Amino acid sequence: MKLRKVTEEMKEGMNDFHDYINISIHTPLETIKKLSENCKKCGHCCSYGSGLMLKDDIKKLASFLKISEDKLKKKYLEPVTRFGVSLFRPKLIKTKDKEHLPYGRCIFLTENKECKIQKAKPLQCKLTTCNKHGTDIGVWFNLNYLIDPKNPETIRQWDLYLKSGGRNIPGGKLNELIPDEKRLEKILNYNIIR
Ligand code: SF4
Ligand code: SF4
Repeated sequence: MKLRKVTEEMKEGMNDFHDYINISIHTPLETIKKLSENCKKCGHCCSYGSGLMLKDDIKKLASFLKISEDKLKKKYLEPVTRFGVSLFRPKLIKTKDKEHLPYGRCIFLTENKECKIQKAKPLQCKLTTCNKHGTDIGVWFNLNYLIDPKNPETIRQWDLYLKSGGRNIPGGKLNELIPDEKRLEKILNYNIIR
């Protein structure tokens, strides 16, 4: 009885936390991770995609699998481009039964829908999109790990994304990312290429 009460109180506390939080570009990673604690590890999202891998993710996974980073990339990863940034993600496998179409399932997803690399999975895979903050968590990841004010192409791509109606969070407006108006104009007009 006592344990049930504590669990219910914890749940309520978590709900309060979810209600109270308003994600911005400056929200700390630890808070985003806390908001991601409700992932049920059901494997659904891994059945139709895989998480982007940052440099540290690649290093960590190569060491976990005890193979070189080159071998990891060749055997398990595939290149992707997001907002003009070249990255890798776990390969997507298309099976004959068409279950995982159109994208394919992550190469690290087992038949039982478990992640084979749970202990070394990429940061993006740890950040759930399965709660009311899911979309903002995705935007937060893009702004913190892909969009780089020092990389003009990412700013131009972000501009296109916003113009096409893409969701944003506080701190992610162009003039917040590049407060220098003249520099921003030059970037958007391709007067600054790199
Ligand atoms: S993020 Fe959502 S869909 Fe993906 S494993 Fe977690 S609960 Fe399942
Ligand atoms: S690495 Fe693991 S958590 Fe990430 S998409 Fe693949 S199976 Fe899912």
